[in-house]
Amino acid sequence: MDILLLSSPVVQLDFDRIARVPNLGLASLAAHVDDLCTVRVADIHGLKNHRDYVSRIVNGYDLVGLTAMSFQYQEALALAKIAKLSGAETVFGGYHPTLAAEEIGKSEDAALIDYIVRGEGEATFRELVQARLAGKSPRDILGLSYHEDEGKGKGMVHNPPRPLLKVEEIRMPKRDARLITSGFYSFDVPIDCVETSRGCTQGCKFCSINLMYGRRFRRFSIERVIEDIRDAQKHGAGSIFFPDDNITLDPKRLERLCQAIIDAGLAHLRYKTQASASGIASSKQLVDKMGEAGFDGVFLGVESINKRNLAFLGKGKMSNDAEKAVQYLHDNNIIVSTGLIGGNPDDDEADLWENFKLARRLKVDFPIFYISTPYPKTQMRAELEEMGLVTNSDFTRYDGLHANLKTRHLSEEEVQFITWQMNARYYGLEWLRYNKVKLLYPKWFAREMRRLAPFYARRKLDLALGRRTREDFFREDLASGELCKGVV
Ligand code: SF4
Repeated sequence: MDILLLSSPVVQLDFDRIARVPNLGLASLAAHVDDLCTVRVADIHGLKNHRDYVSRIVNGYDLVGLTAMSFQYQEALALAKIAKLSGAETVFGGYHPTLAAEEIGKSEDAALIDYIVRGEGEATFRELVQARLAGKSPRDILGLSYHEDEGKGKGMVHNPPRPLLKVEEIRMPKRDARLITSGFYSFDVPIDCVETSRGCTQGCKFCSINLMYGRRFRRFSIERVIEDIRDAQKHGAGSIFFPDDNITLDPKRLERLCQAIIDAGLAHLRYKTQASASGIASSKQLVDKMGEAGFDGVFLGVESINKRNLAFLGKGKMSNDAEKAVQYLHDNNIIVSTGLIGGNPDDDEADLWENFKLARRLKVDFPIFYISTPYPKTQMRAELEEMGLVTNSDFTRYDGLHANLKTRHLSEEEVQFITWQMNARYYGLEWLRYNKVKLLYPKWFAREMRRLAPFYARRKLDLALGRRTREDFFREDLASGELCKGVV
């Protein structure tokens, strides 16, 4: 049996310029079946014409795997169509197919989907491949959705969920299975992913992590993490991204990991991760150790400065932590990106701009002004629906940057336009003065400035001459999906 696993080609264009990271989950799935069959991973999210590429390579594969978040799901269906035309079976996994399996199973989409691997995929996928090889029914495979009859069209059967694996049962990712090995970077440095833990015990109302993993936090051994970093380095990585859901849930362990990186002689690599503001703020000693170990980028989930919004989002106190966290990180020359969420039920224009002011005050290097997104099955969606504030259920726009709701004071379009203006205004002269990117990645920075300067100069001129309006640019960016561009 030959298996092809495809990453989602749909990316957030503005982030893709800064970092493009190979898919770790698919390399992990590959590791769990490569003793049974031939398995290849195609990280197609950097390709100009991914559909052509898939059409060219897909022939001969028996099973094609696709993964999708909500905003990526429609394109996964398009790729599934190509796979089905080649005669392959298709298996879907990831957040959206997991959370919407019931609805998908009853919909027309199910004609393009033979199986859904729900939740943590490694063991379920392995058992599916074993069953196919043995010609057995998948009836007893926990965590799997499938068609019971060959006729399809009667909906899918959903087996009971699978308990989470023990981390010792999870094999090291198989990076050798990758067909595309270049084009992945953070700034200009080749990057790969290494996970150190899975899951999170917090209960943020907008987050889907708990629906995938429950409120559990499982830690890989530090020895395994070091071995995995070495493997990523062997495969060309000069930078490592830890995509853990909440790596700072155990700050002491992260500190031990940093020490292990130093002891292993791996502190020359550039490390990046996402972290909670409270975890980072909890220990200056931890952040100093991160700096020593080679961390140079942290995405902080700050979410909001507004207490009312923090309560709505299911967060505790945050803004004080954020201040401390950003300070500690900057003291160690670590680039800080922050997620700030606007468009909450009682937000008016001034509330949205509060996030902007916070980012400016903290001199955040890359703030991302997200818009509250009612992801399927989350508590936030249920609450917003109850309030009558959800305005769009076309999931292709559920990427955190598009407005899919209104507030009690602002229309969907107003939320979108104000947020677009915040992105536009942030990256001006003041930002040029304080951002750390220009110091840490001067070549990348100079190149981006050379690329962007004529673009913004043209927009400014068009505005000054009255040839175009801000609204024209807004609509242009909305259409292209580059919502962080704006007019400086
Ligand atoms: S802390 Fe992060 S991972 Fe955990 S529930 Fe909140 S948003 Fe999700």
